[in-house]
Amino acid sequence: MKVEVINTGTELLLGEILNTNFQYLSRQLNKLGFDVLYQTTVGDNAGRLKDVFKTALERADIVITTGGLGPTRGDITKEVLCETLNLGTYLDLDTWNRINNYFCKRGLCMSGNNEKQAMVPIGAQVLTNEVGTAPGLAVTQGDKLIVLLPGPPSEMQHVYEKQLEPYLINHFAKQGVIYSHIIRLRGIGESAVAEKLDDIITSQTNPTIAIYARRGEIIIRLTAKCMELNEAKTLIAAMEALVNQRLSRYIYGTDDETLASYLGRELLRTGSTIAFAESCTGGLASSLITDVPGSSEYLLGSAVTYSNMAKHKLINVSQENLDTYGAVSEPVARQMAEGVRALFGTTYGVGITGIAGPGGATRDKPVGLVYMAVADDKGTVCDKHIFGGSRTDNKMRSALTAISMVIDRIKETENTDK
Ligand code: ATP
Repeated sequence: MKVEVINTGTELLLGEILNTNFQYLSRQLNKLGFDVLYQTTVGDNAGRLKDVFKTALERADIVITTGGLGPTRGDITKEVLCETLNLGTYLDLDTWNRINNYFCKRGLCMSGNNEKQAMVPIGAQVLTNEVGTAPGLAVTQGDKLIVLLPGPPSEMQHVYEKQLEPYLINHFAKQGVIYSHIIRLRGIGESAVAEKLDDIITSQTNPTIAIYARRGEIIIRLTAKCMELNEAKTLIAAMEALVNQRLSRYIYGTDDETLASYLGRELLRTGSTIAFAESCTGGLASSLITDVPGSSEYLLGSAVTYSNMAKHKLINVSQENLDTYGAVSEPVARQMAEGVRALFGTTYGVGITGIAGPGGATRDKPVGLVYMAVADDKGTVCDKHIFGGSRTDNKMRSALTAISMVIDRIKETENTDK
């Protein structure tokens, strides 16, 4: 079954809000095995919405809209659908009562405008909305199904879960399942991964394989479509085994695992502790570490040493190094790692100092230049990177790279100790 999702709202086109409704719906529909093949975003304009409906009805079996079911004149989805399909409407008393109760319970009066929300296209099934006013609607037209859902994400999700999902399961033969599995890699680039998997990528059918570069890691997504989940899992396991054979040394986790949770596991496994001295990342590395439940076992503390004074007073970075080399320099990163390790008495100390941008660059120090150091009882290692992205990007990449560097350090130490 081919599905097109239409998200209405000028706010979406202006980029003022993110289209989370589409993300939610496509995930849910994929889980049920429906093929979401098209997504269209259209503003609150009757002419354009009508065109979008016509196109969607030509190329999809199921058309699902979100938004535009509110009480105001600008909310036009239902009206435009009725015009497109030439459908009349009637006042649905059950819906009217439900909307009226919704207001009464809150000590409010239902306004005349809300009556518009109780108008139902003839032949449509009402998908009751228990958490808002606008109900969802399911309209069949020949062999096509058109579903209208409210725009506010909490209402849309509620109506989907309670009403639309059961409706789809009852009305359509089992579509099978689409199952995805993610393999996460570090320490290797996207093109090197693609090269190593070239023959698998070229001959892919089911499962399919896709490679993405994300900040600090590479993601391989395997997706299988089968009638039963177990079948899909078996197909994916076979392809995963092939990927493992070629890339096992770079794979650190699967699905929801993060670099921070992997580092956490490694620290726990080796009975180690850690502390961060963060300058340009402003505490982001520590924040990523503390996103992982149980991180108090290994993160003993951190210092956001943004100013030279903080670097000097809190973690003992020498004034001489600050004056001679500047805050963004290898000697300072090293002293930050060593100083914070001494302050908290941890196995590892990490220092991160850089220029997040957009300002602050000099002739020899560009935006995105970051030094990061890891200190332990064997000494201190330091890396230099030039990320050169936006401020947010540079901060995130610095934090993730520092986390990755500690993972490398743990592995190196183990290999040397062997
Ligand atoms: P209302 O009864 O609130 O008018 P509605 O069904 O008419 O509901 P809209 O007016 O289109 O829906 O959207 C209401 C709000 O829901 C928007 O201001 C926005 O905050 C949110 N919203 C709408 N569509 C989306 C979307 N696709 N993704 C995320 N949020 C959305």
